[in-house]
Amino acid sequence: MIDNRLLKVSEYINGDTLLDVGSDHAYLAIYAVQNDLVKNAICGEVVNGPYENSLKNVRLNMLDDKIDVRLGSGLLVLDNEKIDTITICGMGGPLIADIIEEGFVKLINKPRFILSANTFAEPIRRVLVNRGYHVVDETIVKDEKKELYYETIVMDYGKEEYSEEEFYFGPINLEKRSEMFLERLNGEAEHLNTVIETINNKSKNKSGLDVLESRYKRIKAVLDNEN
Ligand code: SAM
Repeated sequence: MIDNRLLKVSEYINGDTLLDVGSDHAYLAIYAVQNDLVKNAICGEVVNGPYENSLKNVRLNMLDDKIDVRLGSGLLVLDNEKIDTITICGMGGPLIADIIEEGFVKLINKPRFILSANTFAEPIRRVLVNRGYHVVDETIVKDEKKELYYETIVMDYGKEEYSEEEFYFGPINLEKRSEMFLERLNGEAEHLNTVIETINNKSKNKSGLDVLESRYKRIKAVLDNEN
């Protein structure tokens, strides 16, 4: 069974064919096929160990005819195929954005993207908005074991304009102000405040302080609902 984070991602999958980039264990693709969310899937892995792991799990579930496991980077594993949903999960925002940028040229249609980042999701929104996409939903899920927040962003083709704050925090996050979104921001504000106070009180080297203070102010403005 997949965890809460991937379960949330699976709720947004649509169409017949899924490409899961960075499949690792292939659990998401296996779940999607077994639960008839898609007819077939491609798993892409750039590292040998997880690639073998994905192959093994697909075989164990007797899904070789429905899930094709490929070794390669990001969207570059595609070979002139129409894909309905692309998932890229469990990585940092900048890496996910780089993967999309690197392989976007391989797409022959406009699939839905479901991206689940464990850090800094702003570059994901920027790279896909630059390609004519817009945000259709955003959700924050907490992995209690790893004490990490995952931001899931769902993007479909279609143009929309965003403010700097919407790129930074997420347009739907700002609109919904979910409990998890505010919890994550509160945690980050507390952490930043402690670091800023420590630098101010104990450190002679103040480099980087302005960046931390600016981020703290942006977060406080959202928490105080000034946007
Ligand atoms: N997607 C799974 C999940 O969310 O549970 C696995 C996440 S795991 C932390 C990240 C996986 O992405 C690793 O198996 C890694 O090898 C793979 N990966 C990293 N960069 C990649 C790339 N450019 N193309 C394909 N896979 C990549």
